[in-house]
Amino acid sequence: MYQEAINRYLQRHNYSNLRLKAALFDMDGVLFNSMPYHADAWHTVMERHGLHLSREEAYMHEGRTGAATINLVCQRQYGRDATPDMIEQIYAEKSEEFNKHPEAQPMHGAWELLQKVKHAGLTPVLVTGSGQRTLLGRLDQNFPGIFAPERMVTAFDVKYGKPHPEPYLMGLAKAGVAPNEAVIIENAPIGVQAGAAAGIFTIAVNTGPIDGQVLLDAGADLLFPSMPALCDEWEKLSGQFNHL
Ligand code: CA
Repeated sequence: MYQEAINRYLQRHNYSNLRLKAALFDMDGVLFNSMPYHADAWHTVMERHGLHLSREEAYMHEGRTGAATINLVCQRQYGRDATPDMIEQIYAEKSEEFNKHPEAQPMHGAWELLQKVKHAGLTPVLVTGSGQRTLLGRLDQNFPGIFAPERMVTAFDVKYGKPHPEPYLMGLAKAGVAPNEAVIIENAPIGVQAGAAAGIFTIAVNTGPIDGQVLLDAGADLLFPSMPALCDEWEKLSGQFNHL
């Protein structure tokens, strides 16, 4: 049943096959149920600075770097980018506000899926726009032995960030694989755009409040309603990748 989506992907990118060697994981909304806290923190701190970003809209910008999100709202309201000082200040406050919330819990199904990926001999790579040190620091506690430090792409590594393909291309390089040797697991429209632009088979998991169609329109090759739903289908799906 996944053959059609795989064939569409191969045709779109002019690849002859898809041999799975690596799985590239987004973090917020995929590994941690942290998005409600991010959306709330963004809204609260932006308002404090006279900038308007609703919690709902924060989900649409999920995956951008902090600087890009701040500039986008500043451009909309004032027709100019924020100053570097302002970006630094707002992002520091946003991180502080985020940390006032309870610890974000690992997403249901994430550990199970990571185990399957690991046992299948695939290389797991983290590709996040986040520079939230609290969550990055908890990765190894919640998902021990999964992400080697040299296989992580974070806000500290990238110049452009999602929706530019850069972060996912860096993820491929860190895994040492080609675009048709990996899959991406993403929950945000902008992350999906980045994955599709990098030429990688992109699986969207709709773990937040947005309409799933938005993720398909952004270029998702497949859409699942949750991480457990993807986890349940993993063997069937990954088997079809490798037996074209
Ligand atoms: Ca995300």
